[in-house]
Amino acid sequence: MTHIITSLCLRDGGCVEVCPVECIVPGMPQDKYPLYYIDPATCIDCGACIPECPYEAIFTEDEVPDAYSAKGGESQAKPVGTPGFDQAFSGNNHHGHAVEIASTKTLAAGETVNLRDDIQSNYDYFENGPGYWDGWQQHAK
Ligand code: SF4
Ligand code: SF4
Repeated sequence: MTHIITSLCLRDGGCVEVCPVECIVPGMPQDKYPLYYIDPATCIDCGACIPECPYEAIFTEDEVPDAYSAKGGESQAKPVGTPGFDQAFSGNNHHGHAVEIASTKTLAAGETVNLRDDIQSNYDYFENGPGYWDGWQQHAK
């Protein structure tokens, strides 16, 4: 198994610093890969990342909800061009550095979202995407 970062991720970055095996990478290029991604082949399922996420975006693979019920007001991020994701998100990461995400949507209270759609992108990022790109550790801080 592995842990999975879902599209509730808003690039806060806190999870990166607690991962004992350094297997969480910020997605790049950001328009195509707006989340952070966990390398399934390296994750040891320690669970340390889950409580670090202010957006509660991380789950064990088995527990990623297929019907996440939104509290209301949280943002979901998808690659640029995803239908319905046309809002820009501006915020700060856990170090106070600016975070801009081009393609998000704000969830309404009680809206139901299938976050299991995000599982494959964690695998694809390492199997077919950039994976551990040069300099990711500096950008992750
Ligand atoms: S702590 Fe949460 S929001 Fe921040 S990068 Fe990790 S998964 Fe994304
Ligand atoms: S569960 Fe542990 S090893 Fe896996 S990504 Fe989270 S902190 Fe890293």
